[in-house]
Order: sequence, then C-alpha cells, then structure tokens
Amino acid sequence: MPERSESDSRKLLRRLRDTLAVPGGGQDRLDQITHLIADSMGTEVCSIYLFRDEDTLELCATQGLKKAAVHKTRMKLGEGLVGRVARTGQPVNTADAPGEKGFRYMPETGEELFSSFLGVPIQRVGEKLGVLVVQSKTARQFSDDEIYALDVVAMVLAEMTELGAFTGGEGGMMALHKQPVMLRGTSGQEGAAEGRVWLHEPRVVITNPVADDPLTEIDRIREAVGQLRVSVDDLLSAESLDKDQKAVLEAYRMFAHSRGWLRRMEEDIMRGLSAEAAVEKEQSAARSRLEQVPDAYLRERLSDLDDLSNRLLRILTGQGKDTGAEMPENPVLVARNIGPAELLEYGRKLKGLVLDEGSVGSHAAVVARALAIPLVINTERITAEALNGDQILVDGDQGIVHLRPEETVARAFRDKIAMQAEAQKRYASLRGLPAITICGTSIALHMNAGLMADLPSLENSGAEGVGLFRTELQFLVRSKMPQRAELARLYARVMDAAKGRRVAFRTLDIGSDKVLPYMKPQDEPNPAMGWRAVRVGLDKPGVLRMQLQALIRAAAGRPLTVMFPLITEMTEFQQARSHVLRELHREKSLGHRVPETVEIGAMMETPSLAFAPRAFFELTDFVSVGGNDLKQFFFAADRENELVRRRYDTLNLSFLTFLEQIVARCAETGTPLSFCGEDAGRPIEALALAAIGFRTLSMRPASVGPVKALLRRVNLAEARDVINRSRDVGAESARPHLMEWLASVGD
Ligand code: PEP
Ligand code: MG
Repeated sequence: MPERSESDSRKLLRRLRDTLAVPGGGQDRLDQITHLIADSMGTEVCSIYLFRDEDTLELCATQGLKKAAVHKTRMKLGEGLVGRVARTGQPVNTADAPGEKGFRYMPETGEELFSSFLGVPIQRVGEKLGVLVVQSKTARQFSDDEIYALDVVAMVLAEMTELGAFTGGEGGMMALHKQPVMLRGTSGQEGAAEGRVWLHEPRVVITNPVADDPLTEIDRIREAVGQLRVSVDDLLSAESLDKDQKAVLEAYRMFAHSRGWLRRMEEDIMRGLSAEAAVEKEQSAARSRLEQVPDAYLRERLSDLDDLSNRLLRILTGQGKDTGAEMPENPVLVARNIGPAELLEYGRKLKGLVLDEGSVGSHAAVVARALAIPLVINTERITAEALNGDQILVDGDQGIVHLRPEETVARAFRDKIAMQAEAQKRYASLRGLPAITICGTSIALHMNAGLMADLPSLENSGAEGVGLFRTELQFLVRSKMPQRAELARLYARVMDAAKGRRVAFRTLDIGSDKVLPYMKPQDEPNPAMGWRAVRVGLDKPGVLRMQLQALIRAAAGRPLTVMFPLITEMTEFQQARSHVLRELHREKSLGHRVPETVEIGAMMETPSLAFAPRAFFELTDFVSVGGNDLKQFFFAADRENELVRRRYDTLNLSFLTFLEQIVARCAETGTPLSFCGEDAGRPIEALALAAIGFRTLSMRPASVGPVKALLRRVNLAEARDVINRSRDVGAESARPHLMEWLASVGD
C-alpha cells in the first residue's frame, strides 16, 4: 500500500472528524462532507444517497450535481448504479457510467456530464444506510487505493450516522433508530404483546471511528487479537466438548489465527480508522461478500466470523454482554437466534420474542410455544434496527413486529391486546365448567406440555389432564444427555403437579427437526421421513430403556401412561411395548415400586397405521392421533416448509374422511382415541373433530378456553350433517359450510 495514499486518507478522515466535531444541523454537515470528500479525492462530484425507507434511496447532499435535485432524486434499491451498490453492498467503479448496464439517466441532476463513477455502500454490520458516490468528467477507472479510501470514509460516515451526527436540522437524514419500523416475519407462536426491547446480545457501540495515532491502534488490535486467540484456545481445551462443538471452535481458531484478517484490519487502521472501526469494517465487508454466496456451509462460516468479530469488539471496548443495563419492564427479547436453554433461562418474564432467523420447528420456537410467548421469526433485521428499551409491539398472529410505533398503531394494537385479554377473562369463567355440547356430548379437553413451566397451566386452563407430554424438550434444553435419576425426579415432579390427573408421557421423539445438541445428527436426505422418533428408540434402545426406567421410578406406585411416537406398523408397537414390559419386570426384580397401572399407547402419525391389523387396535391401550405429522404425510406437505405448510386445509374432506375411518376402527375394538396435534386447539377444527367422533382432544393450554367456549354452544349432530352435506355436494373442504352454519348458530 503506498505511503502517500495512507496519509491522504488519514488526513481526509481527520478533516471529516473535525467537521463533525463542530456543532451544526444535519444538512449543513452533509453538505460540508460532500465538499470535503470531492476536494480530497480530486473529483468534481461527491454525493450522499441515504435510505428513506427500506427500498428507496434519496439524494441527500451533493457537491457537483445540481442542488435542486437534493431531496428530490430518488431511486429504488437495485435501480441505476447507485441502487446496484446499495443492493449488492459492493462498490461499482466505471470509467463510462452512461455506458454501464443498468445506468439510469436522471436529467434533474446533470449527471450525464460525468463519465467516471465510483460508488461504495454506507453500511454498518447487517445494516444498509446508503451509498457514497464520487464522479468526474475525465473518463478513468478509480484505483484500488481510491476505492479503499472511499470505503473507509463511508465506514466512518456509517458510524457517525449511528451516533446521530446527521440527525436534526432541516432536511437532515432521518434519525437512525428513532423512526417507526414495521418488520414482517413469520409467526412462530400466536399472541400479541407490547413491551420494551431487550437485546440478547446488545450491539457494541463504537464512539471513536477515527483515530489519530495508528501505531497505538495497531498495538491495541494486536493485543486484542492475542487475547481472542487465547480465549478460543481455552475454549478448545475444555474437556467436555463433543466433536461438533470442537469443529465449530476449530473454525473459530482458524479465523482468529488468520493472518489475512489481522493484516486487513491493520491496513484499515493505517488509513485512519480506530481499531474498533477496523474490526467492524472487516465484519461488514465479509457479510456483504458472503451474503451473495448461496452455499449454506459458507454462510455458516459467516456467522462464525461474525461471532468472532463481536468477541473482538467486546475485548477492545470492554463492553461485555452484560452492559449493566437493567432489563426493562415487559421485556421483549430480540436476538439473531437463541438456543432453547438460554430462552428457558429468561423464562416467563418475557412478554415476547423476535428473531432475525429461526424456523417454526426450531427449538427456540418449541420452547416459546411451551412458555406461550408470542414469537415472530425470520424478521431478518430486527437486531440491526432495535435498541435496548425501544417500544415494540409483537403480533404473533400475523408475524409482524412494530418497532417504535406511531401512537395510532400502538393504540390499535392495544385494543387488540385488550380484546384478547377480555376473551381470556371470558374463557377463564368457563374454567370449572365441562366441555359439553348442547346435544349433551361430553368432550375431554387435555393439554399438551413439555416443560415443568407448563404445569401451572393445568390449573389455570381447566384442562383435565396432559394428553401429550413431549419428553424431548427436557433433552433439547440440555447441553448433555440427562441422567436417569435426574429424569426420574423431573417426571415425578410432573406427576406431583398433575395431582392425580392423567399425564401421557410420550417417549423421546427426536430426529427430523428435533436434533439433540449432544447427539451426532444423521445426514439424511429427508429427515422428516427418516430415522426419527420410535425408529431411533427401537434401533438403539439404550436411551429408550433409560427413559422408561425413569418413568417407572417416577410413578412409584402411581398410574403411568406411556405412548410411542410415529408408530408405523404393528410390529413396531409390539417391540416398543415389550420394552416397557421388560423394564417393568426389571424394576420389580430390583425391588423398585412399580406403577399401580400402566397404559401403553401408540401415536398415529403415519397413514399406514390406520390400516394396521385389528390385533394392533386390540393390543394398544389407546391411540393418540398426532395430527401435525399425520397431516404432513397425508398431504405430502412438509410441516416445516413455509411454502407448503398451510397449503392444505385440515377440513379438507379427504382428510376428514380418513380421520373418520380411524374413529371407526378404534370404535370396532373399543380402543380409546384422542387427537393431540395443533389442530385440536383451533376451535373450528376441534369442532369438526368432535363432530366426526373424537371425544378427547389435547391442545396448547391457551386453546382450552376458546375450544370449550365453542363446543358448549353447538350441536354436534348438526355439525356432522353440515360436514356430510359438504361432502355430498362435492366440496373440497368443509370449512365454508361449517363457517356459514356457525354464523347462523349465534352466540
Ligand atoms: C404431532 O405430530 O401431531 C404431534 C403431536 O407431535 P409433534 O408435533 O411433537 O411431532
Ligand atoms: Mg409428531
């Protein structure tokens, strides 16, 4: 790198900082900056374009283009050369801008006079703020050094923006992190919440992007990288690491020891950046580069590098994760992603959860559901937008988040929350009443659970028992395999909390979307149809047997109910059942108290089991339809795939007819039958299930009230007629007819 350009950019940065140090309005400052950059770079034009909203850029200041175009000229993301820089996060450098593909002619700017164009993004990590452009009349390519210098200046502008240097004053740029923002994601758990942002990992604030003494900064970065390396090495030497954790840390070590990484940061410092700004510049650049890469593995590495950069920033600034800030009242947790154990630590004190990433079946989503916290996932940029303490509205029903909302939006939202609370009050008043339809049919409503934290809901919701206890949650929230004694204690506490009500413990249902952090994941082409649930338990029975022993010990003389997930054919059930019998025998011979009674049931989650021999229905103590899986296999539509998961209606008559056949088969042998998929908790679906013959439904605790309220005002024979009529007229789904009929039934 030539010494001259180093000192040039340092000089420019210092002038920039001095300009920003003088108090002044936003627009004045932007004007001065464009003047200063054009002057230093020897170009006729320097312009700053900033985002006005998510995909509109506006010319906010210029030296050299027509002043009348300022705050008038706008372009969409991706439009013209400026839009291209903004979209890709990469510089555009051309000697012949008008001849460049995608050039957009903007007569109001007078830009056609200028042939050379260099544009670089103004961005912070994960956050695009605008584009900085220089142009000149002479046709020339800008040198690498010039690109580099402009990039560094853009970086400082981004930092200054973060610190609010351009806000205020007429026409100044919009105040960052002050404007209302609406983000659209995916619903992970329904419900509405209003609260204040609590960042899981607060962003590191850089207050000094420009430094005077590069040598001091170089010492600082070298020392910090040294510390980082030691800390990664320490992590790696921990004994409890499994192979996968080791692999991730090895990748960290590789980055931490990468000479290229340190060298690039040192070069940035020589250009005038502080050590912190240099780390962040590299972090932004790596992100922009890798965001273009479709390869999932490389994107994973991007998050490793991100994490490492954050650690380095924390070492440099001394800002730990714990910034000393106090958690606000009504905290809504905001994170890129979060593990189930960490989420569980926050527990019920959270009002809501918003994630940049995540999936409907992720462990965090599973835990959020168990805690009944409204959850929105896939917002992509909530962590870039939100600051600790910001007001936030989480609409888990629609998958929408309002950050720093306008008062009118907040008011409408509060109305919605109030309405939901009102409805909850109404449901609470039904708590002690049975779910009996007006035709006198009694439907048993049970709840689904998976954590100790769920158990208080048994009292509050008015559920008769736990129709599905997902035991895998206890395995998912731990970093290592739980021990038998530990599990036995936990199951005993669950039974204690249930106070004699029935709890159907489902044995470990792992595989597919549920991967234990401490078990090697199988590389399967189609995990939902792969080695999962009881298939794993039967092939490798060690864990299954340990779990059964824990359940038997926990029951200690009380009744025990066990069910097996994803039973697909009779022999699987026979084998699973014989494991229970063998463990009972073993426990007895070891002198432990065995349960008073043992019920052993099967979850029907694949269509094949509906056609199993009669002997299966005679053997099993009960059948519980796992509607989530059964529906996914019936319609061949992945329950985790946003593109198809809502495509087929549960009230589709083919599916209802199939469910009716299951009811009939169980009726033939007098086998008790229940339904425990998510649909059981949706009032119209629950009504349809009751109408076709299900007498036990198990659902999320919050659904018990709404389902009971509906069941208590309907006649099931009429509902069944409506379904039959829809079938007779050749309808695809019974929903429209059922809705129409319900509207006529009234409250
Ligand atoms: C189901 O598949 O319907 C079910 C209840 O089990 P899970 O959602 O845990 O797979
Ligand atoms: Mg299932």
